[in-house]
Formats: sequence, C-alpha cells, structure tokens
Amino acid sequence: MEQTVNIVSREQWGAAAPKQTESLKGPAQRVVIHHTALLNCKGLAESKDHLLSIQMLHMKDRHFDDIGYNFLIGGDGSVFEGRGWGVRGAHTKGHNDDSLGIALMGNFNNDTPSKEALLSVKQLLMSGVRQGFIQPDFVLYGHRDLGATQCPGEHLYAALPQLRI
Ligand SMILES: [Zn+2]
Repeated sequence: MEQTVNIVSREQWGAAAPKQTESLKGPAQRVVIHHTALLNCKGLAESKDHLLSIQMLHMKDRHFDDIGYNFLIGGDGSVFEGRGWGVRGAHTKGHNDDSLGIALMGNFNNDTPSKEALLSVKQLLMSGVRQGFIQPDFVLYGHRDLGATQCPGEHLYAALPQLRI
C-alpha cells in the first residue's frame, strides 16, 4: 500500500495562530477517531471556509487554544493539518495527554465514510508511526469509547476495525 500522505498545511487553509501550543510528552499511545458532525467537505476550496469556522467555534465558543483536532479528513480523502503531530489536542475530555485526535468531516450517524477518507486515515496513522509520532502498538478508539457522546457516528464507528494498521 502506498504509504505517503499529502497533508494540507495550516498555512494552506489559512488557519489562525494558536493561542498557545503544548507538546505531547512522547509518541501518542492512543488515537481517537472523531467526526465533526458538520459538513462533509471535499477538497481545499470547499473545506477552507469550513475549517476556519470549526477553528473559530473551538477557539471562540469553546475557548480552546486552537482547533481541537490534530488532523481533519475530507470526504475525498484530503488530509488537513489541525494542531498537527506531537501537539496536545483538545478533542477527548480527560484523555488528551497521550492521544492524537483525528476527525473525519461529516456526520456519520447518517453518512457512510468514504473509502478515500478511510484510506487517508490509515496512511496518516502509518506515517505517524514511521515518523515516531505514534507508538507502533498504539490503541485506536472511537470517541464514544472514552466519553458520553455519539461521536464518531454509527457508521464511522462500525468502520474502525478497517483502520487498524
Ligand atoms: Zn469526538
């Protein structure tokens, strides 16, 4: 399987600067999969405004330091840098110290995640392990495994076994 993954940088989508950044203590031991429960975006043009609105929501309404997730995945498999590698996220209350949060854009209570999006997550995970940002024996969770939430939606939760590398 092709293991390179192309990441759309914060600069490319015009992210605002984080209020502050805190590093993870080491390679992530856990990866938590989320959905945004919002639009299912495809490509940079369509996703740019939407990413900015998610960042705004997280920073202004929820008072986070930055967009909560480490990465976001578009419906066409585009990978967008959130906080990025090695940075503590704000995505799973009580579990952010040793985990990485990846959100698929869309609401997967109703929608089915695309093959492209799932493949991108898998490639991102492999790339993270290869670069030492994720422990090789990391554990993959859906947000609902760790908190009272529907996230990442019924259909994405059901697809999690496909993401184990
Ligand atoms: Zn979540």
